[in-house]
Amino acid sequence: MTVAMSATALRPRPASGLGYQAIGPEEEALVLDVLRRKEPFRYYGTDAAKPPPMAAQLEKEFCAYLGTTYALAVTSGTAALEVALAAAAIGPGDEVIVNAWSWISCFTAIVRVGARPVLAEIDDTLNLDPGEIARLTTPRTRAVIVVHYQGVAADMEPIVLEAHRRGLYVIEDCAQSLGTRYRGRHVGTWADIGTYSFQNNKVATSGEGGMVATRDQRLYERAVRFHDLGNYRPYHAALVPSKEPAFVGGQYRMSELTAAVALAQLRKVDKIREHCRALQARILPRITGLKGVTLRREPDPAGGFGFEPYVFFERAERVTPFREKLDARNVNCGQRTGTYPQYGRDYVKTGLAHAPAASPFRDLKPWPAQGYRAEDFPRTEDLTKRFIALPIGWLYTAADADYIADNFVAVHSEVCG
Ligand SMILES: *Cc1c(COP(=O)(O)O)cnc(C)c1O
Repeated sequence: MTVAMSATALRPRPASGLGYQAIGPEEEALVLDVLRRKEPFRYYGTDAAKPPPMAAQLEKEFCAYLGTTYALAVTSGTAALEVALAAAAIGPGDEVIVNAWSWISCFTAIVRVGARPVLAEIDDTLNLDPGEIARLTTPRTRAVIVVHYQGVAADMEPIVLEAHRRGLYVIEDCAQSLGTRYRGRHVGTWADIGTYSFQNNKVATSGEGGMVATRDQRLYERAVRFHDLGNYRPYHAALVPSKEPAFVGGQYRMSELTAAVALAQLRKVDKIREHCRALQARILPRITGLKGVTLRREPDPAGGFGFEPYVFFERAERVTPFREKLDARNVNCGQRTGTYPQYGRDYVKTGLAHAPAASPFRDLKPWPAQGYRAEDFPRTEDLTKRFIALPIGWLYTAADADYIADNFVAVHSEVCG
């Protein structure tokens, strides 16, 4: 029996994944160094005169890599968002604008500090539509969380302009986009504070972990205090002398073991990015101009990471058959799964926080109120039902990229021809 396969023979699926697939002797050496010194805690170890180096070195190299002034290692990207919001003194009574299409934490971090998330439409960049800031700002709005979704920067120039003229903080959530640039500068350095993640799915990983980056001394001190039970230890005071009163914080400190892995991974980010960009460059020209499909718009195509090209279909009903046919040809690909629209999640449907009085929605009746229902986001709904994602991994080869392009073209002629 012959299998109809118009482009090429069936090729085995390449292993997906970015940073974790690049783990090697560099990570091992740094972790072993921590273990052999018996110093897993960042602030003190076996030698009183010489504090452990890993988290401090990670922060230093992170700043140099981004071209920013201060970086603070924390336990996760979610922790980084909570720390950033707390550093900006955002709490009960405040509103924070955030992409309706974003990871769980972007919403929960706002609720956890007691503020109310206000959901914004995305545009064909799959990032925040800059026009939403004017539409959604009220006298209670204090900040905007901008998500740089899957290695493509949001259009920061209009976003920062619109937000800052209204006196709003801009927090850049770079959890998915470490190494991504916008107009020559790293994401996370365009606005007031940037947050990053080293969770397993991210471009660089230590399993769990996060970072907060800023140029602002006051935000830095407040971030340090919030992440360490209100403490401001001598290590940080030597960088920025204390000017802020002590206040209650949580415990979001990174361990030396995590920092060791994150440091080795940070040093690989540009290599991983170059690999992804090179493979993406083999695929995109082949897709560009095909009838009925358009590419995700990149505000700065030169700055992208390139690990997940997105293709929009004019007609939503073509997405599922197209994805199924690609998948049958062993091309890793994805479509909207339902985990990303914030208004679709269970805790938004209930409107609950851990205690009734902690919910920022308790006075909005009936619930779900306007702004928290799918029908309030027609553009986000439309765009996210019309895309197919084509992930690229660290272990993919040029032949894998060509196979993706060949089969996309072949399936296109079957489904859209
Ligand atoms: C992964 C992610 C986070 C949270 O990071 P964790 O380290 O998993 O807590 C936050 N925002 C976005 C956009 C993410 O993708």
